Amino acid sequence: MTRAPVPPKANGSPGPMVSVVLPMRNESRGLDGLFARLVPALRALAMPYEIVTVDDGSTDDTLARLKSFRDEVAHLKVVSLSRNFGKEIAVTAGLARTTGDVVVVMDSDLQHPPESIASLVAPWRDEDFDLVYARRKNLDRGGFLRNAFSKGFYAAFDFMSEIRVDRETGDFTAIDRKVVDAFLAMPERNRFNRGLFAWAGFRTTTVDVVMEERQVGTSQWGFLKLMRLAANAITSFGTLPLKIWAIIGSVVSASALIYGAYVSAKTLLFGADVPGYPSLMVAIMFFSGVQLIGLGIIGEYLGHVFSEVKRRPLYFVREAIGFDVPPATTSHTPGITVEDTCSDGL
Ligand code: UDP
Ligand code: MG
Repeated sequence: MTRAPVPPKANGSPGPMVSVVLPMRNESRGLDGLFARLVPALRALAMPYEIVTVDDGSTDDTLARLKSFRDEVAHLKVVSLSRNFGKEIAVTAGLARTTGDVVVVMDSDLQHPPESIASLVAPWRDEDFDLVYARRKNLDRGGFLRNAFSKGFYAAFDFMSEIRVDRETGDFTAIDRKVVDAFLAMPERNRFNRGLFAWAGFRTTTVDVVMEERQVGTSQWGFLKLMRLAANAITSFGTLPLKIWAIIGSVVSASALIYGAYVSAKTLLFGADVPGYPSLMVAIMFFSGVQLIGLGIIGEYLGHVFSEVKRRPLYFVREAIGFDVPPATTSHTPGITVEDTCSDGL
């Protein structure tokens, strides 16, 4: 089945149109290489296109260079956020400003080869898929530790969450407009984009892509940042970590009862013996640890509730360049406007 023809756009260009979203933090040095490959790749699609770049609080001259590239690169738009909000939010800010019928999200460091955009868009156009993921053919994520961490995370996520996220897919995706709208309608502040897309559903497929090495600079995901994203992802999509403590508690209590009965019987039959101090200490320390982990996990969920009830906008836009209609300066959160959130009493 092929996609029903999209009606021509109001601006007279033939539909359908493709938008590309590029989140960027300190990517200035790679911009020449990026546009040198992206623009021919988009032209080869023979579809109208727009490039929406999001400057996510860069501290180098990414923003200034993006602005100057607007003279050379047609249909280049720039959204500059008020500070660094992180990649997930930067992608959200970019998606909110796209107008294409299909939106391609990709990294700006050329790890996602622009030449593969055509193969991502093809299943959308020809087979009516709504969400097309690039699947890493080369799974190595740079180093033994990072691979082990990634495997551990996906195993934990699979076990504990209500949705499935494929470890072999990443953020390089082609997304139909209706899925973009569904994604933007989800108001949560703690965002794990791939989880939100998976939760939304729709007709999904994958395309094999050979990912490349970062061309310049280094990855901006330190171990701690990755840990945060992983904890956030797991606690955003399931409550098993919360509930598991009831099971652990029951098992521990049952074992304690059995052990208590055994010790009582032993004391009655053979009298009390004093030794056992080390095992007592180990037991105390172990179970204090278990209780603190349990508390920490409750804290993680409470943190989510805290940030959700504040209902702050997801991000602020400092500058938006190249958009026909000036975009809103805050994130789209259904039902809330900036005025609503600023009470006179404050
Ligand atoms: N990025 C971003 N905001 C951040 C960190 C990263 O927009 O706070 C962008 C970055 O510029 C790049 C993409 O997200 O285009 C992927 O980042 P990176 O290459 O550092 O991560 P990795 O490829 O190692 O997962
Ligand atoms: Mg990268």
